[in-house]
Amino acid sequence: MEPVVAPSPAAMLRELPSIDRLLRAPGGDELRAAFGRTLAIEALRATLDATRAAIRDGLAERPPDYDLVAAAHEWATDLLAPTLRPVINATGIIVHTNLGRAPLSEAALAAVAAAAAGYATLEYDLAAGRRGSRAVHAEHLLTRLTGAEAALVVNNNAAAVLLMLTALCRDAEVIISRGQLVEIGGGFRIPEVLAQSGAKLVEVGTTNRTHLRDYAEAITAQTAAILVVHTSNYRVVGFTSQPELAELAALAHERGLWLLFDQGSGALHDTAAYGLAPEPSVPDGLRAGADVVAFSGDKLLGGPQAGILVGHANLVQRLQRHPLARAVRADKMALAALAATLGHYLADQPQHVPVWRMIARPLDDIAAEAGSWAAQLAARGVPAEVVAGESLVGGGSLPGETLPTRLVAISAGGAEALAARLRAAAVPVIGRIQDDRLLLDPRTVLPGQAEQLLETVARAVTGHIFRDHAGL
Ligand SMILES: *Cc1c(COP(=O)(O)O)cnc(C)c1O
Repeated sequence: MEPVVAPSPAAMLRELPSIDRLLRAPGGDELRAAFGRTLAIEALRATLDATRAAIRDGLAERPPDYDLVAAAHEWATDLLAPTLRPVINATGIIVHTNLGRAPLSEAALAAVAAAAAGYATLEYDLAAGRRGSRAVHAEHLLTRLTGAEAALVVNNNAAAVLLMLTALCRDAEVIISRGQLVEIGGGFRIPEVLAQSGAKLVEVGTTNRTHLRDYAEAITAQTAAILVVHTSNYRVVGFTSQPELAELAALAHERGLWLLFDQGSGALHDTAAYGLAPEPSVPDGLRAGADVVAFSGDKLLGGPQAGILVGHANLVQRLQRHPLARAVRADKMALAALAATLGHYLADQPQHVPVWRMIARPLDDIAAEAGSWAAQLAARGVPAEVVAGESLVGGGSLPGETLPTRLVAISAGGAEALAARLRAAAVPVIGRIQDDRLLLDPRTVLPGQAEQLLETVARAVTGHIFRDHAGL
């Protein structure tokens, strides 16, 4: 027998195929058909570069051409794989900003699909057969729900606040309490938004206490408005004081100013009925005398990302006509989802809005599901127990507001490592870690997701145990 002589790295490098040869190799046609010539060539080049590096690092054998083509296929597939992926939210945080805030109702989803899949009457008046307005789709529902004279929907609440201040207060003074100079997530800071709008910020009071007279004394001939910002993501407790909205509205109107209210979370009905802290609702703000209220479509409202402005017709009209309104307008998918979501409130069926269904879910029901999960996991060899805990409303909605819940606690191996494996699953499962245990809250797991969650957890845990035993 001839002795087997390993090829030298230099020889292997020389023998690497050209890109043209790989395009003609088995799989080459498919690669080009799937990704187009330019991307196919880039993928092959990247694969050849990686192979050269591997050979220099001691790779023993040159991979056959079809393996190189397959590797290029994988490279291109990875490149095009979506990064915006569905996940299972087992954190118990209902309005989870990082996980996309509010899941939509079935009706809202259907409305989005119908509007997005084809042409729609976004700005078309069917009766007249000519151009219409995108303002008709949600605005009449909003005025009905809130009691406002007029409404305007924009891209998100940050845009709503910016538009409100730009259109109404540019080059004028706006008075705001120091206790409300808040930063919402993602670097949205009220003082910076005010600066961006061209309005001049006049701070009054202190972090914990601001009195009506502080506002009154700050009013000058240059003042356009008093701005009230709902501190929706934190709460100042203890020795605190802030005038009621109605008192501020009375003061503003007496002095010929507007009272503008950034309400933030957008509750349309009574939160106290759900065992939550009473949150000022949008109708409350208007009844108290706010001239314009700005709020978010995807916090407590539970709809799509949107910013909503409601208030006096003449002011809303000024907002509508401002050039910035065009730059921050809502798209057809958001309008479709918002109108469907608002329909649930008008029909007095908030239980169709997933956020409210989760908030209202009875503890007994959650406990039963947690018990069932723990039993099913135990049957698959995963040590799990049910423990008491708290869900969070979250998302800058109701600061610190929690709901009692039951959690499934898993203490197999390191919780961090287990959480990482769950995040690496095809449909990632996001849980919470506490005291080196992984906690899963059934409250935020949507109907139909439990089976997949249990399968993923079982695989992540038993895979771990198997590898431990194998000494890997
Ligand atoms: C959330 C929030 C915003 C920003 O709203 P987005 O819809 O996230 O743009 C602005 N103001 C307040 C008080 C908020 O709570």
